[in-house]
Amino acid sequence: MTAILVTGGAGYIGSHTVRHLMEQGHEVVVLDNLQTGHRGAVLTPHFYEGDISDAALITEIVKKHRITAAVHFAALSLVGESMKFPTKYLEANTVKSQLFVHALVDNGVKQLVFSSTAAVYGLPTQVPIPEDSPTHPINPYGLSKLFIEQYLQMMDTLHGLKWVALRYFNAAGASEDARIGEAHDPETHLIPLVLQTALGQRESLSIFGNDYNTPDGTCVRDYIHVRDLADAHARALQALENGKPSGSYNVGTGQGYSVLEIVEAARRITGREIPTILAPRREGDPDVLVAQVDKIAADLGFTAKHSDLETLITSAWNWHSQLSC
Ligand code: UDP
Repeated sequence: MTAILVTGGAGYIGSHTVRHLMEQGHEVVVLDNLQTGHRGAVLTPHFYEGDISDAALITEIVKKHRITAAVHFAALSLVGESMKFPTKYLEANTVKSQLFVHALVDNGVKQLVFSSTAAVYGLPTQVPIPEDSPTHPINPYGLSKLFIEQYLQMMDTLHGLKWVALRYFNAAGASEDARIGEAHDPETHLIPLVLQTALGQRESLSIFGNDYNTPDGTCVRDYIHVRDLADAHARALQALENGKPSGSYNVGTGQGYSVLEIVEAARRITGREIPTILAPRREGDPDVLVAQVDKIAADLGFTAKHSDLETLITSAWNWHSQLSC
């Protein structure tokens, strides 16, 4: 049997995708260095703890498991941290990914789905954002991903590597059975912080700025359920298998919610108070980030099915509340 290699399969989006691919009947092998991932979130028996830049290890895995395609999540992903430590981000996300892709191609693996980000767009010139918008990242995280998208195109030209880059908007939510969810340490993402506040684990939620150019003054983001993201990856793999050309796709819903709308929905769903305080703007936050989603619908047949606010927050809440039991 052939298999799919998933790097970062112990992480938040990676573990949900591994589960989805296994449910579809694929054999899945996970490679993760467990720097930010969780061993308990790896749902396949085929697990390697190691580094994506270890060419000898990639060769061993590809040969042993007859890998035909890879999904590459393994990365550092905190925008704020990347502003403080740009070199760390460029090394982890760009240099190591370049070595990883090279090792794949060397071993004859010619299909790759890559975790990219809406941060490649920087400050959008048009909202909803189409994929052919200018890419001018305003933080090292976005730049580290954009470099790899460009490198993948070069590897297609040189070696016929077929790739899909999925530019995620704001991932959120947890699995329906509350088995896997979002756990970062330290936590910086809005929905987990809101729910930790609802649980009384934090005194209050800081709202980073209320003078943005949006209807209620707080930032608007396009939140996409992690189960929908998993589906997008499976569709991208299938498209490559079917011979679709390489390209980059937004993965979002096309609908934005403000920070205040998220807090209000969480108050309603959890029945908890959720105190908030107004805090200064966070560096590098654009007013509105919402995806144009026509391209992924047309080419991959993807539309978000679980990303309404109710499902997003309820699934995350079920996961967070059982953690605190
Ligand atoms: N945000 C906030 N308070 C927090 C964390 C986040 O107001 O404690 C805002 C943040 O400024 C952004 C939105 O919530 O506008 C989503 O932030 P998150 O870090 O979840 O995702 P990002 O958009 O950075 O990928």
